[in-house]
Amino acid sequence: MARIREGLLGPSYFHHRRLIAQSKNWSDDEVRGYQEPRFRRLVSRYGDEVTQKEDYRRNPGRYTRWDTPPLTHLVRTGGTSDQPFRFRADTFARRQKERAYLFDIWSHVGYAPHDLRVHYRGDGGGDLFRYNRLENVWAVAPAATVEQELSRLRRWVLTLSPFFLNVYPSSLFTFIDLVGEDLFRRLPIRGVLAGSEAFPLGEQAHFEQEFGIPIAHWYGHSEYAVLAYHCRDCHGFHFYPTYGYVELLPSDIEDGWRIVATSFNRVGTQFVRYDTRDLALAPAANCPADHFPRVGAILGRSQETFIDNAGRKRSLLAHMPGEDYDPGPFWNQIRDLQFVQDEAGSLRIRLVADPEVDKDRIQQTFERRLPMASLEFEYVPVIERNPNGKRRYLT
Ligand SMILES: [Zn+2]
Repeated sequence: MARIREGLLGPSYFHHRRLIAQSKNWSDDEVRGYQEPRFRRLVSRYGDEVTQKEDYRRNPGRYTRWDTPPLTHLVRTGGTSDQPFRFRADTFARRQKERAYLFDIWSHVGYAPHDLRVHYRGDGGGDLFRYNRLENVWAVAPAATVEQELSRLRRWVLTLSPFFLNVYPSSLFTFIDLVGEDLFRRLPIRGVLAGSEAFPLGEQAHFEQEFGIPIAHWYGHSEYAVLAYHCRDCHGFHFYPTYGYVELLPSDIEDGWRIVATSFNRVGTQFVRYDTRDLALAPAANCPADHFPRVGAILGRSQETFIDNAGRKRSLLAHMPGEDYDPGPFWNQIRDLQFVQDEAGSLRIRLVADPEVDKDRIQQTFERRLPMASLEFEYVPVIERNPNGKRRYLT
């Protein structure tokens, strides 16, 4: 089995694993020497204007290279705090590349490739938990964690051998709540792997102290342009120089620096000077870990939670379809959405959609994902933006 798993990692995985290992010893000049020629090549191809999501939506072909099946595939993002969005990604290399960097981030808390993980996410095809033998991952489906299933979840989780718990920052405490804190403390959890959202200030350190379990945390985004690991030395974020190129540009409307990202992928949509609409703070003066570009903290994508009909606080992101979920035409029908919680146990879902969409199907999909809340649907022509241009799912 170990050999089969190793074989599945593929050439891009090993290429990037080598690059990561080398880059950790690079000087500032060597980091620049790797990044600048690549960045300049992209800017000379696409121009040096800062780009917005709308540019890629309007003119996807302009930013896409080698767009021939099976070299590329369509990626739909719907699980982030922004409008649903589509772009083309490298079929073969992207997952391998991604895995090389995630495994490196996770290794900071002792993870080795294919150690057992429990992933609290996805829809599990209706199952409460489901095992993926190739990945060595148990997926626990948030949508199936309704009250009458919790005793089964608690019995099962006690049967596990030591594992890493893979969650979103906003779903970590939901998971603890679902299994119960006393039982959670008895579980053989080797580390927590939590990305995609920010932790509220101090929460990560508080958890680590309180439970004695280390957290591997990172900043990435669904367009795969830049990726940064949260550093246990300086408590800031270090951007992997071989993954993509990060620029920090001043923000006109808020304190902090805009994270502008350029991706280094050769196949699929190339994001160039792409405004992620996330903001960063200046880094601490020094960090001995490496010479990667750094920031102090990252703002944006704050946690979005709701209260279910049993009074539990849950992560909205954990209930949204992830990248592995194939929604068919589902996200194609929805141009924008927002969740509003007026009272505990219920959610109002505001949607921007074409008039001819299959409303029953859209509503059933949300009802399957959120059986622990009563849902109300409201179709609107447009959803207003926040001042920084980033909408929150939940208001
Ligand atoms: Zn550091």
